[in-house]
Amino acid sequence: MTGSLFIDGVWRAGAGASLVSTNPATGAVVWEGASADAADVAQAVAAARRAFQPWADLPPEERVAALRRYRSALEARAEPMAQDFARETGKPLWETRTEIASMMAKIEVSIAAQAERAGERAAATAFGQAVLRHRPHGVMAVLGPFNFPGHLPNGHITPALLAGDTVVFKPSEETPLAAQWMIQAFEAAGFPPGVVNLVQGGRETGAALLDQPIDGLLFTGSAEAGALFRRKFVDRPEVILALELGGDNPLIVWGEVEAEAAAAVIVQSAFITTGQRCSCARRLILPEGAVGDRIVEATAALAQRLRIGAWDGPDEPFMGPLISARAAAGASARVEALIARGGRQVLAFKVEDAFVTPAMIETTGIETPDQEIFAPVLQVRRAADFDAAIGLANATRFGLSAGLIAEDEALWRRFVQRSRAGVVNWNRPTTGAASNMPFGGLGASGNHRPSAYYAADYCAYPVASFEALRPTFAPGDIKGLNP
Ligand code: NAD
Repeated sequence: MTGSLFIDGVWRAGAGASLVSTNPATGAVVWEGASADAADVAQAVAAARRAFQPWADLPPEERVAALRRYRSALEARAEPMAQDFARETGKPLWETRTEIASMMAKIEVSIAAQAERAGERAAATAFGQAVLRHRPHGVMAVLGPFNFPGHLPNGHITPALLAGDTVVFKPSEETPLAAQWMIQAFEAAGFPPGVVNLVQGGRETGAALLDQPIDGLLFTGSAEAGALFRRKFVDRPEVILALELGGDNPLIVWGEVEAEAAAAVIVQSAFITTGQRCSCARRLILPEGAVGDRIVEATAALAQRLRIGAWDGPDEPFMGPLISARAAAGASARVEALIARGGRQVLAFKVEDAFVTPAMIETTGIETPDQEIFAPVLQVRRAADFDAAIGLANATRFGLSAGLIAEDEALWRRFVQRSRAGVVNWNRPTTGAASNMPFGGLGASGNHRPSAYYAADYCAYPVASFEALRPTFAPGDIKGLNP
């Protein structure tokens, strides 16, 4: 392999600016290469365009077989991949191993989803045989985020390829090494040239890709970028957009619950992956008074016991650093702004380079921005009654995940009925999600094209046909005909 781009089945150097990715725990360089310029991106899209029809024309079983070979190629590389994912993102090894396992599991789940949601169906009707088919869109641009640099792009790429689309993948500029591993697995699986292409680079490379004649943009990333893309494509309705964005996710604790057990769910919801999951709880909503105080104390006590460290340190950490010192400084500025508005620190947000500590800020009664702080920062708010708590939970322009910790099932039924979010969990972390369920959000969290199990829906369009072996519509069937 020479070069950082994979275009038309060949690795080659990019003509764009040089790109470097570093280990956030140490600052050591883990990957260096040239990014793709606009001409490289155009070539990648042209290669994907040429590869499209032959790929779409293959019998579905052949695409299934190719994806299964890709799964085996991932399995063969699983451990070195997990280590490099940890080195590049700072995530603990237990977590990156889970990520590679999720990438492998995605294949069979996507095959099942494709058959169930985008397969073929026929039924005899008075108007002939009614046949429902699904056809691929064409060339899909996939822009990936840094927090799950393999699993999330894979969640777009796998269903797109199964459907018969071809792909140009532009990974996060923070995680070129992870993307390279993934594309090497596709290469090892022997996909036809041009079916999967990789262009490395930052936002300029992403922007160049979106200027190309693509048929779809499958995006997982920030709400800001998602909003920008909605505007960008407003006059290109033929381009399908699937936008998987962030959230300002609420977690309510209500009624009689064991404080330590509640704290475990809260900590897992708010601080896993150093708070860098789209589904992390950002706002903890509690009853006023002593019941709420006990939950705050138990959560703060548990959070202080979390091991923080480098993925390859002597003791396995719960969480590593944030993706970069820049991200840590950005989150710190947002925490400072909350404190300047009157927020009270229950647990301080301490920053050292890219490393941060879990923070809890009491913001009851304070007007706070409805934003995602992509870091382990949990705001605490008190409510007078359960309906007020639900009101607070829904008081967001986002709607990705939401959770309730309560032992009273009637509260749960009320919550799941009224909650405005795409993932609504009961006594389980807000981050609990699975590939065999849809995953997506309302409002600023997406555009009603959920991913995971429902990704099959945006990778192909439905075609309804009424069919007969010979013309069956006789002149006598035409009304108002002169003799
Ligand atoms: P990001 O939006 O900064 O970047 C994501 C990708 O888009 C990158 O490849 C980036 O280069 C590209 N990009 C960003 N702005 C662009 C622009 N103006 N033009 C062209 N390309 C552009 O997101 P991130 O920081 O990598 O990821 C974290 C975000 O992703 C968080 O907001 C998180 O909530 C969200 N996320 C959502 C989901 C979900 O499934 N809903 C899952 C994971 C992460």
